[in-house]
Amino acid sequence: MSKAKIIDGKAFAAELRGRVGDTVAALGRDHGLTPGLAVVLVGKNPASHIYVRNKNKQTLEAGMNSFEHNLPVETSQDALLALVRQLNDDPKVHGILVQLPLPDRIDDQAVINAIDPDKDVDGFHVINAGRLMTVAKGSQPPLVPCTPLGCLMLLKAEIGDLSGQRAVVVGRSNIVGKPMAQLLLQESCTVTIAHSRTRDLPAVCREADILVAAVGRPKMIEGDWIKPGAVVIDVGINRIEAEGGKTKLVGDVDTEAAKRVAAAITPVPGGVGPMTIACLLANTATAACRQHGIEPPGFYTKGR
Ligand code: NDP
Repeated sequence: MSKAKIIDGKAFAAELRGRVGDTVAALGRDHGLTPGLAVVLVGKNPASHIYVRNKNKQTLEAGMNSFEHNLPVETSQDALLALVRQLNDDPKVHGILVQLPLPDRIDDQAVINAIDPDKDVDGFHVINAGRLMTVAKGSQPPLVPCTPLGCLMLLKAEIGDLSGQRAVVVGRSNIVGKPMAQLLLQESCTVTIAHSRTRDLPAVCREADILVAAVGRPKMIEGDWIKPGAVVIDVGINRIEAEGGKTKLVGDVDTEAAKRVAAAITPVPGGVGPMTIACLLANTATAACRQHGIEPPGFYTKGR
């Protein structure tokens, strides 16, 4: 018997994109400003191409300018850095995203740290990571990585005030786990970060009112790891074999088992995934506002 509410990330993301579109229209009307997002892709990784195509499409749908730079796989680090500097100086570009992973011979972090932090709409620059660590309680966060930002929005829409909640984040990557934990701390949760060396992970998870799984292991989190009534955010995207020689996407949580215990859970697909691009658009609009001394709208604080 399943009882958990399924959190509809797809619908929330559509609504957020609508709010971004309204902001973009107002910026054009009141300030003659059209936010612009530059996306840089090196090589022909098929998954990256699909992501970039979707980003481009949704950027245009929100009324923003989209600048796509598709570079050959043999592009040198120096040439990539030169393009980043050119985009930093371009007043039509308010957000810059370099699609990861980059080819092995290019130092990802060197490229990310060459981006102007105020245009770093992925929130991966070391300055933005530092700003997130040190932002005062209750003030506007800096440019925050899109996936954890999307998770936070879903949690606030579901729960409201998060203060005092016990939160467990499984995974400590720089792009999901660590910023997720910082955002939850900012919301006054009591936060535990778990990882591959955590002892008795099921017992740690069972303490969580809010459980965020960002691991990359299909269905690793079982039903009896979940505290009854918890809200579960499943960030994992794992492709596994399905019947008839096909494949399908599953998360890091055993969703069917979790549904019997949790109060609410994000599905995979259709949960966190759609929020990532919507938050990228929100970050681009926010960056454009800040670069022009305009008060940005409260995408981060207003729930539905
Ligand atoms: P990483 O591989 O960078 O990090 C995975 C983390 O999980 C690490 O901290 C690792 O611990 C931890 N981990 C691995 N195995 C275990 C285990 N057995 N028990 C406990 N912890 C474990 O992954 P990402 O953070 O980049 O991504 C995580 C998942 O989220 C992936 O499935 C990815 O596809 C998905 N994702 C989804 C996005 C979306 O838009 N919805 C965007 C980004 C990612 P340790 O540090 O000790 O190695």
